[in-house]
Amino acid sequence: MRYPFSEIEPKWQKYWEETKVFKTDLNKTDNKLYCLVMFIYPSGAKLHCGHWYNYGPTDSWARYKKLKGYNVFEPMGYDAFGLPAENYAIKTGIHPYDSTMQNIKDIREQLKKMGGMYDWDAELMTCAPEYYKWNQWIFLQLFKKGLAYRKNAPVNWCPKDQTVLANEQVLADGTCERCGTTVVQKNLTQWFLKITDYVEELLSGLDKINWPEKTKLMQRNWIGKSVGAEIVFSVEGSDEKIKVFTTRPDTVFGVTYVVLAPEHPLVDKLTNTENKNKVEAYLDSIKSLTEIERTSTVKEKTGVPIGANAINPANGKEIPIWIADYALLTYGTGCVMAVPGQDERDWEFATKFNLPIIRTVEPPKDFQGEAYLGDGPAISSDFLNGLNVVDAKKKIIGWLEENNHGTKKINYRLRDWLISRQRYWGTPIPIIHCPRCGEVPVDEKDLPVELPYKVEFKSEGASPLLSNEEFINVKCPKCGGEGKREADTMDTFMDSSWYYLRYLDPKFDAAAFNQKLADEWTPVDMYVGGAEHATMHLLYARFIHKFLRDIKLVNSDEPFSTLLHQGTITNNGAKMSKSKGNVVNPDDFTSEFGADVFRLYLMFMGPYELGGDWSDKGIAGTDRFVQRSYDFFVRYKDILKKASPKETYDIDSLSNEEKSVYKKINQTIKKYDEEINNFRFNTAIASLMELLNELKYLKNCSDEICAYTLKRFAVMLEPVAPHLGEECWNLLGNENSLMEQPVWFKVDPKGLLEDSVNIAVQINGKLRATLELPMNSEQETVKKSVFAEDKILKHTQDKQIVKEIFVKNKIYNIVVK
Ligand SMILES: [Zn+2]
Ligand SMILES: [Zn+2]
Repeated sequence: MRYPFSEIEPKWQKYWEETKVFKTDLNKTDNKLYCLVMFIYPSGAKLHCGHWYNYGPTDSWARYKKLKGYNVFEPMGYDAFGLPAENYAIKTGIHPYDSTMQNIKDIREQLKKMGGMYDWDAELMTCAPEYYKWNQWIFLQLFKKGLAYRKNAPVNWCPKDQTVLANEQVLADGTCERCGTTVVQKNLTQWFLKITDYVEELLSGLDKINWPEKTKLMQRNWIGKSVGAEIVFSVEGSDEKIKVFTTRPDTVFGVTYVVLAPEHPLVDKLTNTENKNKVEAYLDSIKSLTEIERTSTVKEKTGVPIGANAINPANGKEIPIWIADYALLTYGTGCVMAVPGQDERDWEFATKFNLPIIRTVEPPKDFQGEAYLGDGPAISSDFLNGLNVVDAKKKIIGWLEENNHGTKKINYRLRDWLISRQRYWGTPIPIIHCPRCGEVPVDEKDLPVELPYKVEFKSEGASPLLSNEEFINVKCPKCGGEGKREADTMDTFMDSSWYYLRYLDPKFDAAAFNQKLADEWTPVDMYVGGAEHATMHLLYARFIHKFLRDIKLVNSDEPFSTLLHQGTITNNGAKMSKSKGNVVNPDDFTSEFGADVFRLYLMFMGPYELGGDWSDKGIAGTDRFVQRSYDFFVRYKDILKKASPKETYDIDSLSNEEKSVYKKINQTIKKYDEEINNFRFNTAIASLMELLNELKYLKNCSDEICAYTLKRFAVMLEPVAPHLGEECWNLLGNENSLMEQPVWFKVDPKGLLEDSVNIAVQINGKLRATLELPMNSEQETVKKSVFAEDKILKHTQDKQIVKEIFVKNKIYNIVVK
C-alpha cells in the first residue's frame, strides 16, 4: 500500500495543534533547550528551498532533542519590516502592511504543513506596534547613555533603494547588498549607535562562544583591531601638526611622503596658492566615490601634491604632502605616512608619481617583488638597524614617546552603526526635533510612536513619513512649542538584534521582555541561520545583548552560545535563481511526495553545513525509503498488542537471525544518535537506510524481537520524518503520540559487540597462546595482536621467522629457526 501522506500529514498536524503538544512550559527549566532559527523575512508569500533547508533540518534536531528528554523551546516569527514590501508598494500600490500581513498568513500555513514543532503561542512579528514599541524603548535607553547620537557624515547611499546603507550592507565591489546598484557617497545627518564602545568585548567574547571559526574570523576582521602608533609630523613653516596612525612605526625612516584624506580640514589650511586649483579639481573628481571604491586595490591610484612639506620626525627630512582618495577621513586620523618600501599601495603610488622609495626592512635574497611586507632586519634606520620587526616596533615606540613625537595606539576598522533609513516600512525613531530644545526624546509613556498607515511612498530620497503632516507636526515634550518628529525609521537589524528575548513572552507588556524568563532561557543554546549574517545581524545582536546586560536586563554576555550555518542547495551545481529559471519550488514536490519526503531528501543530500545538489531522481529514492519503511509497519500492525518486548535481551538466547537484527538495531541507534546530535543528518539517514535492508530477517524473528526492533525504528524516524514517525509508532499499537510522551531507547552495549572467535597461535607446531578476536578478522589484524603477546614474543625474539600460515577464524602458525 502506498504511503498515504496526504491523509496522514494533515492528520498529525491537526493532532499536534489541537493537543498543543509543542507549547513549551517555560517555567520548567530542567533540561531546557532553546533552539532557534533566524526568523523569516516575509518578502514573498512562499517558502523557498533555502527556508526549508534552514527550518526543516533544525526542526529535526529539535525533535530529536525532545525525544531525548529535553524541554525544547522552538519559536517562529517574522522579521516583517523592510524594503521589499515598500518597493512592492511603489510598484503595485498595495500597502506594505497589507502585503506583509497576507504573506505572513500564507507562510504560517506553509510552516504548519512542513510539520515544524513550533510553539505558535510564541509567534511574533516585528511590524506590530507591541513589538516595535520596545525597539523604540531600547533606542531611548541607548540615547540616555549617550550611545545613540546624531551626526553629519558621509554615508553610503543606494540610488535605487533611495536610502542610506550601513557599511555592512555594502558589498566588497561597492554595490548594495540588496539590489546590486553601485552605492554612492552622500553627506547626511544621521543616527548612529555607538557599537564601537563595545569593540574590545566584541572581540574577546568570540573566544567564549561555540561558533564556526570562519564566522568568528569574519567578525574579527570586520572589527579590524590593529596595534601600532600615532606619529606626529610637523609641517614646515607652519604650527600645524599631522598625526598619522600606523601599524608599522618601525618603518618610519622609510616615510618619503605624507598623504591626507582629501576632505581633511588641514588640506585647506596647508595648500599653497599655486596648487589651489589642482586640489579643488581633484576634490571634485572624487566626490561621488564610495569608501569601498576609494580603497579598492584594483583601482588606479590618484592624487595631487598640495605644495607643502612635512618633517619626518625620525630623521628630520623634508617630505612632500599629498592628498589621495585612498586616505579616508573615517579611518585612523585621516592621514597616512607613506612607506613605499613596505606597503604595496604606497609603492604603486610612489612609482606612478615618481616619489622616492627607501627600503627599511631587508627582504630575503631571493625576494622578487616590490614592496616587502615580511619580517627581516631593519636597514637604513639608524638606531633600529638589525632589529626584527617586532623589536624595532617596540624600540621606535619608546623613542617616539620619549621625544614627544608620538604614542602607542590601537585602532579599529569598525565604525559606529548607522541606523537611520529614509524609508517608511520600519520603526519610527522616537525623537522630536524642537527649534529651541534640539533633539528631544519621546516620553517612554508615549510609546509606541505608531507608524501611520497613510503616507506617500514615492518620495525621491526624502523620508516618506514627511508626507504625513499629522504624524510630523507635534508639540515639543519639553517646552510645548511646535516641533517635528524624526522622519527616518530604524534599520531593521535593530528589530532582529533582540527578538530572541521577546519570543519567551511575546505579549508581555510591562517591559521589552520577560526578564525572569530571559535570565533562565538565554543565551540561546542553538542558533541556526545563514552565514551571510556574520558581520551584520550576528554582530549587532551581540552588541545589543551586551548593552542590555549593562542596563541589567539580561544576565549573560552573549546572545547565542552555539551557532551553526546551513549550507546551500544548488541545482545541477548552479545557485538557484529566478533569472536562471532553475529554482526548485518546494510545493511541487511536497504535493507529489509529501512534506516528510521533501525534508528527508534535503537532509540526505549532503553534509548540512555544506549543502547539496538537487536531483529529481534523488527525491524518488528517498520516497522509496519512506514507502518501504511504511510497509514494514503496516505488515506488523498492532504487534505491541501481541508482544511486549523487554528492554534488553541475552544475545545467546537469540537465534542467529534475531541476533543479527538485534545487533543491527542497537548499532543503528548508537550511530544515528551520534550523527544527528552533530547535525550530520545525511549519515544519520544513511544508517536508517542500512537498517531497513537488515529488516528482511524480521520474518524469521519472534514477535518480541520484531516489536523490539520496530519500536526503535519508529522513534528514529520521528525526527527526520515527523508525520511518518508518529504514524508508524501508532501502527505498532501505541495509543499515545511520540511528541506527547517522548521516548528514546538506550543502546544495549552487548548488542554493539561483534561476534568473536578463538584463534590458536602455534609456534613450530606447539600451542603457545589463544586469542579472542572479532569474527572474520584479516591476517594483518590478527598478526598485530599475535605479536603484541608476551607469550609469543618469548618464543620469537632473537629467532628468524621462516613462515607464517593463517587460517581465517582458526589458527595462526609461525615457523621459526
Ligand atoms: Zn539598493
Ligand atoms: Zn522644545
